[in-house]
This record gives sequence, structure tokens and C-alpha cells, in this order.
Amino acid sequence: ANSVVWLRDDLRLADNPALTAAARHGGQIAVLYVLDEESEGIRPLGSASKWWLHHSLESLATQLAAIGGTLILRRGCARQAVLDVVAEAEADAVFWNRRYGLAERRVDAALKEELADANIDAESFQANLLYEPWTIRTGAGGPYKVFTPFWRACNDAGEPRAPLSAPEQIRSPQAASEALGSWQLLPTNPDWSPGLGSEWTPGEDGANNRLAEFFDRQAREYATDRDFPAIEATSRLSPHLRFGEISPFQIRHALRSLPAAADKDLQVFRSELGWREFCWHLLYFNPDLATTNYRPMFDRFAWDSPSTAGTAAEIKAWRRGRTGYPLVDAGMRQLWQTGWMHNRIRMVTASFLVKNLLIDWRIGEQWFWDTLVDADAANNPANWQWVAGSGADASPYFRIFNPVTQSRKFDPDGLYLRRYVPELASLGARSIHEPWKTPDDAGSYPAPLVELGASRERALDAYAALKEGR
Ligand code: FAD
Repeated sequence: ANSVVWLRDDLRLADNPALTAAARHGGQIAVLYVLDEESEGIRPLGSASKWWLHHSLESLATQLAAIGGTLILRRGCARQAVLDVVAEAEADAVFWNRRYGLAERRVDAALKEELADANIDAESFQANLLYEPWTIRTGAGGPYKVFTPFWRACNDAGEPRAPLSAPEQIRSPQAASEALGSWQLLPTNPDWSPGLGSEWTPGEDGANNRLAEFFDRQAREYATDRDFPAIEATSRLSPHLRFGEISPFQIRHALRSLPAAADKDLQVFRSELGWREFCWHLLYFNPDLATTNYRPMFDRFAWDSPSTAGTAAEIKAWRRGRTGYPLVDAGMRQLWQTGWMHNRIRMVTASFLVKNLLIDWRIGEQWFWDTLVDADAANNPANWQWVAGSGADASPYFRIFNPVTQSRKFDPDGLYLRRYVPELASLGARSIHEPWKTPDDAGSYPAPLVELGASRERALDAYAALKEGR
């Protein structure tokens, strides 16, 4: 009896419970990926994610071929594509790993019913989260709203299972596949992706190499160095996790092999993975997290209207890294060039947009969604809302990052600034954080878009008005 494995955000062979189940099932395995841009409510992929997906699928096809299988690609309504492949492969079972967004769950549930009606087995598995959202509940039975007790409850729930190994050999049935190139996921005219290509290796091997590098050189300094954008101290596993090229179970398991001396760093790293779990917990219980304020009070917040010329120009300057604040601009340019931005700088650039410029967090969230290779349906909106103050367990509104102070503190020598803002290369460590004070050396670099003190006051006033119901 043949089976279908429907892959989605789990583009890996190792620790893939759906694939393991199919191998146990026996027979031939049709491994399917569907580019679904039709099912209701599915958020269309951003441009950088499409680039990643193309290369990840290419890598997956190569890996599958090495163990005797083939990857079937289909585009269109996922439900129909799975049913078609079930028929073509003469399968009597379908396996997949669970997804947690509402629109995705609806597609999966409807398909499961339809398969049951046709007497086809459908089985789903836990693969991409260590703790599935509905399994972690407060004493009163509700979802968590604050990270620390959430993470404590997760840890109390027990150590996650050990990872599964990849099947050594599989056989795949004949089934038509579309050509990956015909999906046109890669940018042309202009091709802005060379910077992404030199930074990243999408696919399972690339993911494992990142993990190995992190363990070899950096994990030990994680707790102290993770805030310094010029140091490569973080794992850079985020896009690999986003596409499921590595599972959190594999990472958790691998952490156990590190020496106890690294304990403090590992504790911090583990809890960052916990934030990912928390964001998915939030999304599961608040499916509209990317479009709706978690705290409804913020629905009345007086954001500047993006349609006025001044605000439109500010948004454009922010996106292009031309705000006149070196740390903000370095971050926005790192994002544009490499599809990724350092976590601390994500907080600084986001705070600058929503507080100093008073622009709705959703505008920033959408830009990150389009340009990040790790653009994640839960992590991105949850973190934007955290910065904006509208989110769960959010940063207090009055905490407004000062990009100059942050720059002096976390990039004291200006190494990160010079890497991404070459106009400032000739400025020394003292003046590079405030180039407007030495304009003769700053060349074509723009003057500050807004003044920090005044824009901060304006943001605090807007928040005070909101609280007082003015
Ligand atoms: P590491 O420090 O090595 O952390 C390991 C893993 O833990 C990450 O790969 C990620 O999966 C998880 N993690 C770390 N920090 C967070 C966090 N704050 N929230 C949730 N998970 C976390 N992360 C995304 O994966 N996708 C996004 O779209 C995204 N958008 C963000 C937007 C804003 C405004 C901010 C402030 C943060 C955002 N983050 C997002 C969280 C964080 O910045 C990235 O996960 C991190 O920078 C990725 O780099 P790394 O893999 O080297 O992280």
C-alpha cells in the first residue's frame, strides 16, 4: 500500500515524523509539496521567503534522490492537489506534520474529513513545536499571556522527545511534478538576491552546518555576546527553523551534548527557543495577530496616516536605511542585503518606526514579512506587537530605544555601522554614532529624519492620550 507525505513547513528528512510513519507504512511514498496561493486566508509568502523556498525545495529534491525518492511539486489549492496525488499514487494513507495557523488548520481539517470519507487514512504529527499550543494551559485552563510562567509550564511538562533519524531508503511512485523554475519564486529584474546567496545555504545540510558552527565556536559566549551586532554570536538558525529544515527537537537534543561549562549560555539560548514557542502559542489563540492589536486598547492609537506625503516619505526612508540614524540604517540595509537582521537591531529599527515616527506597527511588520528570510507567521507579528506595546507581555510603551545610546553601547567601535553604511567609513568611533555633528565627513549620508527628543515626547503624549481616552 502506497502513501503520500505532504510536506509544508518541515522541509527535512531527519526528525520528520510524517515521513517516518510513511516508511513504516510500507509501499511507495509520494513526497509532495504544494505551493498553495489559493486556499482562503493563507498569507502569501514574502519575496525573501520565496527565494528561500526555491532553494530549500531544490536541496530537498537532491536529498530525496539520494535515498531513492522523488519530490512532487504542485501549485494550486492544496486540498485538491493532495487528493490528486493520492489517486495518481494509488495511496491508501496520507501523513503530515501539524501546522498551527487558523487558515492552515482549516485546510488540514477539511482535507482530513474528505480523506476519511474516501476511506483513506490521514494521520498528523507534532514536529515543529516542542509544546503544542493547546497542551500548555494556565491553572484556570486558559492560554498564557506572559512568557515567564508560560516557559516554566513548558519545562514542567517534561523534556521533549528525542529526534528521529531519516529513512535510509525510500521508493516513490510515478507522479507528475511541476518544474520548480516555472513557479518563478526567484527575483528577476532586478535580481536583488546575490547578498542572500552569499549569506545563506537553504536546506537541511545548511541548517545542520549552522548548528555545528554555533556549537563549535559560539554557543559558549551566547549570553554575553548575543547583543552585539558586529559579533556573530547568535545561531542564525531562524530561517532554517522557519522552513523546518531543522526541528526544535533536534536542537534541544543537540544542546544536551554540550559541556556543563556552557550552562548559562545554553539556558539563555533555550529560552530564546522558548520565545518561539510562546509566539506560536499566542498565534494559535489569536489567529489575527498580524492584523489586530493583541491589546484592543491600541485600536484607538493615533498613528500618523501613511497616505500623507510626509509620512509616506518617512516610511520610504526607513525601508531604505536613510533615516540619518546610523544604527537604524545599518539594520535596515542589513535586512535588504542579507534577508536577516540582528535581533537587537530589529528592536531598535522597529521602535524607531512605531515610536519616533509614530507609524503603525503593521506597516513595519509587512515590510519585514516581505524582506526577511526568516519571516515567520507567529514570531514576526508577536515581536512587532511586543515593541509597539500592543502585544502580550509587551515592552512597556515608555521604553523607547534611543538609537544613539544603543549604538554606542552595542557597537562601540562602529564595526557594524561601517559594514552596512559605507558612507560613514571614514568616521571614527567617537563621531560615527552621531554623524550630523561632523557633517563634512559624512558625505552623502542623510541628516536625521526627526529629532530624537521631540519625537519621543510626541510618542509619549500620544500614549498618554490613549490611556486617558482623550
Ligand atoms: P538566536 O539568538 O540564535 O535564537 C535561536 C532561535 O530562537 C531563533 O532562530 C528563533 O527561532 C528563536 N528566537 C530568538 N529570539 C526570538 C524572539 N524574540 N521571538 C521568537 N523567537 C525567537 N524571528 C523569526 O524567526 N522570524 C521573524 O519574522 C521575526 N521577526 C521579528 C521582528 C521584530 C520586530 C523583532 C524584534 C524580532 C523578530 N524575530 C523574528 C525574533 C528574533 O529577532 C529572531 O528570531 C533572531 O534574530 C533570529 O536570529 P538567530 O537565529 O541567530 O537567533
